[in-house]
This record gives sequence, C-alpha cells and structure tokens, in this order.
Amino acid sequence: MIVMLEPDSPESVVNAVLQLASQYEGVTPRAHVVQGAESTITELYLLGSTAQVPLEPFQQLPGVRQVVRVSQKYRIIGRHGGQRTTAGFEYNGVTFDDRSVNLFAGLCAVDSPESVDAMMAALAGCGITTTRMGAYKPRTNPYEFQGLGAKCLPYVFESAGKHGIKVIAMEVTHPRHIDEINDALKKAGNSTGVMLQVGTRNAQNFELLKVIGQQRTFPVLFKRGMGITLEESLNACEYVASEGNPKIVFCLRGVKTHLGDPHRNMVDFAHVPVVRRLTRMPVCVDPSHAIGRAEAPPDGLPDIFHAIGQGLIAGASMVLVDFHPTPEKALCDGPQALRLEQLGALQRYTNIVRAAYTEAVRNGDGTQAGAKAAAVSR
Ligand code: PEP
Ligand code: MN
Repeated sequence: MIVMLEPDSPESVVNAVLQLASQYEGVTPRAHVVQGAESTITELYLLGSTAQVPLEPFQQLPGVRQVVRVSQKYRIIGRHGGQRTTAGFEYNGVTFDDRSVNLFAGLCAVDSPESVDAMMAALAGCGITTTRMGAYKPRTNPYEFQGLGAKCLPYVFESAGKHGIKVIAMEVTHPRHIDEINDALKKAGNSTGVMLQVGTRNAQNFELLKVIGQQRTFPVLFKRGMGITLEESLNACEYVASEGNPKIVFCLRGVKTHLGDPHRNMVDFAHVPVVRRLTRMPVCVDPSHAIGRAEAPPDGLPDIFHAIGQGLIAGASMVLVDFHPTPEKALCDGPQALRLEQLGALQRYTNIVRAAYTEAVRNGDGTQAGAKAAAVSR
C-alpha cells in the first residue's frame, strides 16, 4: 500500500500517517522522498500484511493526496492506481523527469584526453551540461579495446569541471568500478556528477543490480536487456529500486534480431509510452546503439536523428547519443558516432520534436481522459 502526501508536506503529516500505520500489526512503514525541481513529494510505503488494512482512515488524514494498493508487480517503480507524476529526481543540479529533455551526447568510449576535452568543449559551446563517457567497456570480442578504466577518470572529471559538465553517464560492469568512480570524483573535488549506467549485457546481473541499488550516491541509467522481454527488464529495475535507490531512468536501445538489418538492432522506441504507462520512471532512448551507423538518407538527417525523433515524439525525456571528434579513429563504435559539427543541429532537431510532442499533449487525444491527463502533466 502506498500513502502519497501532498507536495511539500510538513513532518506532522508524515507522523500522523506513521502513527495510524502503527495501529496495524505486521505493517512496516518506509518513507520515500522524491526531491523534484519544484517540490518534494513524500510517499509512505506500508509493507507487510496490508491486505486487511483499510484505505479510508488514511485517505481521511489531512495532507494525504492519494492511497493506493499496489499490485505485486513493480511495487516501487510501477504506476499504481492512476498515479500521475513521474518519479523524477534531481541530481547535481540536473532534473530528470518528464518535463524537459536531457541530451547526453558524448564518447562511447574514452580513448584520449584530447577527445574528452574536445567533446566537453563542444558541449559547453552548445550550453549542454550532460554527457556520456565510457571508461569500462564490455566487449563481445576479448581482443578488442576494453576501455581505459580507472586511469582515465582523473582527466575525464577534470575536463568536465573545466567545461561545466554536471552529469556523466558511465557504464559500470563490476561493483569495484563504483568505488573507483567515487574515489576519483573525490580527488577531483567533485568537479562533476556520474550517472551509473547498467549496460544491456548486465540487465539481469542481479548481484550488480543489488549493489547499484544499495548505494544512494549516484542515480542509475538502466538499459533494457537486448534479448529479454520488456517485463523482465522492468523487473530488473525493481531490483535496483527495492534495494533502496529509486533514482532510475529507463533506457531503450533496441533489441537483437537480424530483422532490424541493416540497423544494428531493431528500434524499440514504440515502447516509450508503454514504459511510461506501466512505471513512473523517466524514459531515455539510445539511438546510437539501436541504429549502429551514422549515415543519412537524402533528407540529410541521419537515421540516428530520425530514431531520436521517434523516441521524443513518444515522450522520452532523455537521449543518450554517441559522438566523437574523429569517428574514423574511435576505438569503439566509430561507425555510429556523430561528428562534433553535428551537435548544434542535433540540439535544434531535439527542440523541434520535443515542442511537437508538448503541443500534441496539450491538444490531448480527443478523449476526456486524454485532455485531463494532458492538463495534469503540464
Ligand atoms: C553503451 O552505451 O556504451 C553500450 C555498451 O550500450 P548497450 O549496453 O546498450 O549495448
Ligand atoms: Mn558503444
């Protein structure tokens, strides 16, 4: 059962709910605070034997907005009983919710201080404060470049600080990597922030998911498993959330099948609204790993732009995209990397499609429910 309080509820409301909950045997309350850009939302999870606990006494408490019974599925990440808000969060000055789009453009893999600095400078030139930088690369072939690991972190974090980058999405494949990131960030005077990326190959590495869920320092970017169902991927996110870290963005990145040829994977961005309906997580799309090539049709917009458009028009609020100053020299995924000169165009394209999405939501879908939902989500 979840008792949702009105935004910015005082401690007295929380205490009243806890007091009432304590009257029911076998019920353990757990508070969950979502720190948004504009307000703080507190939800109290009543865990244990709640089947016999009535909703009404909680609903009648002043300051309680809504009380819902949760299904067994997706207890924490799920959208239960018509909950309206997305479980957004703020991290290092960047807000992750469904109200705006964060563009994480950057290197698939860090290969030199020069590429890192050129990338960060290009981002700063466009006023972008979020990026991706892979230090630990899980590769299919053991003889291919495996990423520079901890040794590149000092110059990555230094360059981020110099260019005002606030959040770097960085994949971790082992719990040790989290400690290495933590240490390097401290040594760099917390010059930036890191969002821990769970790669598609680790989508069901439950021990890694638990460790990532147990730490609260870093938010999480979870990439759907490429060969498992959406339901299995969402359950994997529930692992992270149930261990204590609900700051998760869910990322679609295509699924593996040769039916997607000549693209690297089959683009699955039609699942954006499905994830938003089933859960309250903000949704990201990664067109680079879905498409796998930087070519463009005669309209001049690369396939990667078109895929981003599909994600954004469906309501995605984060984009993860590969760039490289010299894609032909990149040590990992060069063929899908966009050039720095394309960054401004991508930013403009993103704004156009996002504006179209906002307009479509404002107009509603023609039904009363659609119009109401649109009014509430604005
Ligand atoms: C990546 O984003 O660098 C990556 C390896 O992606 P994925 O896990 O989706 O293949
Ligand atoms: Mn890659």
